[in-house]
Amino acid sequence: MMLRPCPLCRKPVDLETAPWRPFCSERCKTRDLGAWASEDYRLAQEPEAESGEGWTEETPRAD
Ligand SMILES: [Zn+2]
Repeated sequence: MMLRPCPLCRKPVDLETAPWRPFCSERCKTRDLGAWASEDYRLAQEPEAESGEGWTEETPRAD
């Protein structure tokens, strides 16, 4: 057992056996990739294009 916290939800993940390591689940892996992609997209925008609404961090849902 080599437990490390999931980068997204901090749930312990067994790095030796977890299929989605270092994430605890496909959901966390997908969510992380989505966050990275949206960040990249945001950086590609001209600052003037931002109205301010796009900078609000999405509140993690406790599910
Ligand atoms: Zn997770």
